[in-house]
Amino acid sequence: MAAKKTVKAAKKVCAKAACKKQAKVSKKGFVYHFGAGKADGNGAMKELLGGKGANLAEMAGHPKLKLPVPPGFTITTEVCTYYWNNKRTYPKTLKAEVETNLKKVEKETGKVFGSVNNPLLVSVRSGARSSMPGMMETILNVGLTLKTIPGMIKMTGDERFVYDAYRRLIMMYSDVVMEKAAGIEPKDDKGIRKILDEKLCDVKAAKGYKSDTELTAQELKALCEDFKKTVKKVLGSDFPDDPMQQLWGAIGAVFASWNGKRAVAYRNIEKIPHDWGTAVNVQSMVFGNMGNSSATGVAFTRNPGNGDSHFYGEYLVNAQGEDVVAGIRTPCPINEWSTSGHGNDSESLKKVMPKAYKELDAIQKRLEKHYKDMLDIEFTIENGRLWLLQCRVGKRNGIAAVQIALDMLKEKLINKVEAVLRVSPAQLDELLHPIVDPKAEASAKAIAKGLPAGPGGACGFIVFDSAAAIEAKKAGKECIIVREETNPEDVEGMRAAQAILTARGGMTSHAALVARGWGKCCIVGCSEITVDTAKRIMTVNGKQYKEGDYLTLNGTRGYVYEGKLSMLDAGEKNANLINFLKVCDAVKRLKVRANADTAADAEKAKAFGAQGIGLFRIEHMFYGANSEKPLFALRKMILSGSTEERVKALKEIFPFMKKDIKAALKAMAGFPVTIRLMDPPLHEFIPHSKDAVEAICKALKITPEQFEKRAEALKESNPMMGHRGIRLGVTYPEITEMQARAIFEAAAELIKEGLKITPEIMIPVVCDEKEIVNQKPIIEKVHKEVCAKAGKKIAYTVGTMIEIPRAAITSADIAQVADFYSFGTNDLTQMTFGFSRDDIGAFVPDYIKKGILKNDPFQILDQTGVGFLIRHAVKAGRGVKKNLKIGICGEHGGEPSSVEFCHREGFDYVSCSPFRVPIARLAAAQASAKEMKK
Ligand code: PEP
Ligand code: MG
Repeated sequence: MAAKKTVKAAKKVCAKAACKKQAKVSKKGFVYHFGAGKADGNGAMKELLGGKGANLAEMAGHPKLKLPVPPGFTITTEVCTYYWNNKRTYPKTLKAEVETNLKKVEKETGKVFGSVNNPLLVSVRSGARSSMPGMMETILNVGLTLKTIPGMIKMTGDERFVYDAYRRLIMMYSDVVMEKAAGIEPKDDKGIRKILDEKLCDVKAAKGYKSDTELTAQELKALCEDFKKTVKKVLGSDFPDDPMQQLWGAIGAVFASWNGKRAVAYRNIEKIPHDWGTAVNVQSMVFGNMGNSSATGVAFTRNPGNGDSHFYGEYLVNAQGEDVVAGIRTPCPINEWSTSGHGNDSESLKKVMPKAYKELDAIQKRLEKHYKDMLDIEFTIENGRLWLLQCRVGKRNGIAAVQIALDMLKEKLINKVEAVLRVSPAQLDELLHPIVDPKAEASAKAIAKGLPAGPGGACGFIVFDSAAAIEAKKAGKECIIVREETNPEDVEGMRAAQAILTARGGMTSHAALVARGWGKCCIVGCSEITVDTAKRIMTVNGKQYKEGDYLTLNGTRGYVYEGKLSMLDAGEKNANLINFLKVCDAVKRLKVRANADTAADAEKAKAFGAQGIGLFRIEHMFYGANSEKPLFALRKMILSGSTEERVKALKEIFPFMKKDIKAALKAMAGFPVTIRLMDPPLHEFIPHSKDAVEAICKALKITPEQFEKRAEALKESNPMMGHRGIRLGVTYPEITEMQARAIFEAAAELIKEGLKITPEIMIPVVCDEKEIVNQKPIIEKVHKEVCAKAGKKIAYTVGTMIEIPRAAITSADIAQVADFYSFGTNDLTQMTFGFSRDDIGAFVPDYIKKGILKNDPFQILDQTGVGFLIRHAVKAGRGVKKNLKIGICGEHGGEPSSVEFCHREGFDYVSCSPFRVPIARLAAAQASAKEMKK
């Protein structure tokens, strides 16, 4: 039902676009010819001719190519939109144009469509602007009828071949034209193709044949008669015996397949506009199944799996294209570079048909030089003569993409700007994380889907708490920690586990932030699972999973699988990755910093190429390893009942804080480090366990009742908008003072060691410039005292986060008192949308499904709403201070489209978790490259 609605909606969009477009008919008309060294179109005309049509025209007609392409013609994408807008009819001139072009093809091939003696057969294929592999329809051998069959037999001298072609035509045509395009819903989900396939299998079984090729001419002929009777019985009409009727039936069916369920669903996933329409390519048939001097194959100008710069591909002797892709027969390698996994060198095309191979190899070299990219080529050899059926930019994995970009740069085929555009961020990501083996994933069914919070894949057994995860790690075992949601007490377990799975939380939830910082696989907001930690059971769709049961997670896409799926290793420390990122650095303008909270994170970030720290969250020292003592002191500070008690607790925190800050500053010496004053979500730090409560009571010399009262007083209805950030410093100036002292003393000691240290102190959760005016004197006073005592000058700046809409709006005032801005887009998104960043798992997926939102705004910056505020703040801020330094430190700082936005808006830097630094470097380079190309 839902699928039907989507198809209807897509048709409406298509029709609307057609209305607008109708007046604008291309000058040339609706049909473009190609073949025999000429073409009406060219490779740049993808919008009108689709990818396939444009490339056929380029290969056939470009003066530097003029390759052997079977002659044919392309009916433009405009006709597709017309067809959908005009009750599946065509523009008036189309019939005559098709006939004229068919005549041209007849002349070029020396054959005649429908001729009794010398029949021309054609293929009818789809071809959208952007490749939609396998999503639309193809019909081969169009033009075979009872009248033309004898002519074909005479021409080829091969009766078996002709009846095999005829049975293929009946199978494809009845399925695509007579059933699917006619809108006939098959009974019991058993379509005509399946019924005919079963008949074919029955005949083979009765004769004891293993392969289709064993069927004789007479058996195929009888099968064709049986097929036609079955078609009539099942679909209620005769299989057409008129070539023109077949041709127009096939053209209409390809246009109809643009709005087939598969195609619509694919466009929704790939975000391909529904109003583009497909072109239709009608091309004279060449046959790879005319005996042992014929063959068909698919090849890549370089290896698409590893980028190796050798011609790579596979082929089959005596076969039609569909046999190669359908996996009916195992193809053979085309040369010695393609032998891995199948066949052997002795059966290679190079050995079996050396002349055709040599020609093909020379053509692929010319094509690659011409297109300056790795190409995917389809070819057919008919009785020793080579034909090119298609060429397009070849799909490749991440490892291959990087290798090919670097090699082509070295070969001077492309320049640096082009090289950085050759690798997508998702491809680069493949090199940074272990992933679930795509082959294993393709045959597995996900049990649940959540938000893809930390990329890569992981496999391990379920544990329900930190202690179990730590124990597993100690025993050298791999586990996945499954929680309803996470809190600071889980951090050790999160670190110990291979991956994290939570039922609640959004992309900027604590679990997601921490996991991303560690480069750990993580899925959050997986609302299909329920977790009963007490009973140690996870339930998904009624099925229960116990502690110890295995799961596999794909954190890049958010899929949860039952059991163990095989994994592929990450290629970290890969020399190619390092070299490719150097090319990116040469092209990018934006600086890339990291959000790092420890010296170890800072080191990691530097190794990934970070140019500083854009966000050091002081409060993260209270999470994770070795945090017991500072956390205990922080709890005392939070639960203190007087300024005296608080100052005492702050003194206890101070040495820990100074040590951590010093370590991070040292690790990043020479680079800028932005240290954000504490922004602790107070409620997260109140102890819950009996032992922890008793310890605090003892330390503060209070009774459990007094503890309860103080804890109760700290509870807030809306902690995200409560007593946090700079508000703490305003009510308790001693908290700001202690932090400033920790920063300046750490800096002074490092400066004494001869290091270049310039701390940038950042004030969080600011909504009014007077908050900064209130805090700055505290910082200045401590700075003076520390400099005087140390006898050293400490250069520093004081800036602010822009993370509250009011701060963005009043940027002209705030810029007067701030040295820099860093956009905290996690909170800015939260407060602009009014969506709690930790609770979006419950509703944002529905908003996306129902088309209200295009994306999760916590993952991909909302350039319309949040972007409006940012644009205003940048303009107003720089209006006051021309050189105001501007960055971003929300999670969007590592998301490619958001990085591009920051580039366009003139930011100085983006900051993201260390593992995303390489992606941000690429995204920044691509933003520059796109601008340069314009
Ligand atoms: C932000 O709000 O974008 C930010 C970086 O701060 P935090 O995530 O710590 O609230
Ligand atoms: Mg924030």
